[in-house]
Amino acid sequence: METAVKISRRAMLGRSAALLASIAILPILMPSKPAVAGSAAKEDFNYQDQPRNGKSCTSCSAFTPDGTGNGTCRIVAGTVKPTGWCMAYSERN
Ligand code: SF4
Repeated sequence: METAVKISRRAMLGRSAALLASIAILPILMPSKPAVAGSAAKEDFNYQDQPRNGKSCTSCSAFTPDGTGNGTCRIVAGTVKPTGWCMAYSERN
């Protein structure tokens, strides 16, 4: 036994508009791309776990917190500390 479902043009347009609105805001709700970790050796950039002249990874544009209290860097490979510093430091705007 089949049951016919009638839907008005107005209801269908309303659902279509809601669907389009949902698709439009999807990129806003999606998390951003994961940070790309760098591949340079820490030694090559004189990385240290301590700040230098008041500057540290936490204020560097290459630093991304990883949720563990440390982070990754787009320049050097591996985990870096928020308190770290290297010669590629670039102040975050
Ligand atoms: S200071 Fe150096 S190690 Fe730290 S985030 Fe910036 S580029 Fe990476």
